[in-house]
Amino acid sequence: MKQRILITGGAGFLGSHLCDRLVKDGHDVICLDNFFTGSKKNITHLLDKKNFELVRHDITMPIFLEVDRIYNLACPASPVHYQYNPVKTIKTSVMGAINVLGLAKRVKARVLQASTSEVYGDPSVHPQKEEYWGNVNPIGIRSCYDEGKRVAETLFFDYHRQNNVDIRVMRIFNTYGPRMHPNDGRVVSNFIVQALQGKDITIYGDGSQTRSFCYMDDLLEGMVRLMDQESIIGPVNIGNPGEFTIKELAQQVIALTGSASKIIFMPLPSDDPRQRQPDITLAKRALNWQPTIKLEEGLKKTIEYFKNNLE
Ligand code: NAD
Ligand code: UDP
Repeated sequence: MKQRILITGGAGFLGSHLCDRLVKDGHDVICLDNFFTGSKKNITHLLDKKNFELVRHDITMPIFLEVDRIYNLACPASPVHYQYNPVKTIKTSVMGAINVLGLAKRVKARVLQASTSEVYGDPSVHPQKEEYWGNVNPIGIRSCYDEGKRVAETLFFDYHRQNNVDIRVMRIFNTYGPRMHPNDGRVVSNFIVQALQGKDITIYGDGSQTRSFCYMDDLLEGMVRLMDQESIIGPVNIGNPGEFTIKELAQQVIALTGSASKIIFMPLPSDDPRQRQPDITLAKRALNWQPTIKLEEGLKKTIEYFKNNLE
């Protein structure tokens, strides 16, 4: 059935792909963004579609729109960008959650929160299950993001218990793909851009820390499935359990680009998680979802994108 769908952060990396998907599915899509890390370029091709609208708005301010569904993605996701203005980051997560939940309550919309594996902090349980409460520093340089996202989850569950708001909460693990900003600062786009430009590949620390990388098409499929089903509200981990060290990632990017770039080692930022891997048992069972795109395949697609999109 055709729905009216609001996507906050819709001009960003994941949000713009979600706009594409939902416009293609025939829904009426409203993309809301303040263009902090997102770009009009990501959604320009949708502007002449009859079922697409763009609203320039900051989600820390209330908004009233008649919609059936809300995907709340507004929040800078790269450490470089969320640490640029940490107070604004936490306001975006917390006041943004209050504003979308208030809207959902008024118009009786279902609302999905793009939460994060960062709620587990530097995890002492590995891989991470949804039951794990995490190991988060409340006063460090990542806290504006981690704690903001944790409070947002709290708000989602309190609005659900107190006001019966129809919620879905997904915990997204490191996701990459086309339309990441060349200066995004996250590891996959950094390494690819550095390799393509023949610059040094910057590994922070000794590169033994791990991440598990999910290609964006897989992630979006999980997101839409979570939104569209009735059996669970979450939180549910969505990510690819394939776990790699950052050094392995650098080596793969060098091999796949055929780059002459050299690896250099730089200081590890504080509170950088040592390891991260999603346990996706719940997503498999409740959403019949699992990733299908291996790191090598996803990296090839992303490298292709950057080859065509770097000035
Ligand atoms: P992104 O930075 O490309 O997208 C975020 C979007 O939100 C941008 O378009 C930005 O301009 C917009 N935005 C930021 N603050 C806003 C505000 N106050 N009002 C309105 N819009 C605002 O990042 P992304 O990777 O596409 O992430 C999307 C969401 O998914 C974020 O909430 C992020 O925390 C979450 N997430 C992403 C990942 C990942 O690996 N990509 C992992 C975990 C969680
Ligand atoms: N990282 C790195 N070089 C870079 C960017 C990131 O070695 O140029 C490391 C970073 O220290 C972290 C990992 O790669 O250990 C993932 O970083 P990212 O910023 O992509 O995401 P997050 O730390 O939030 O998972």
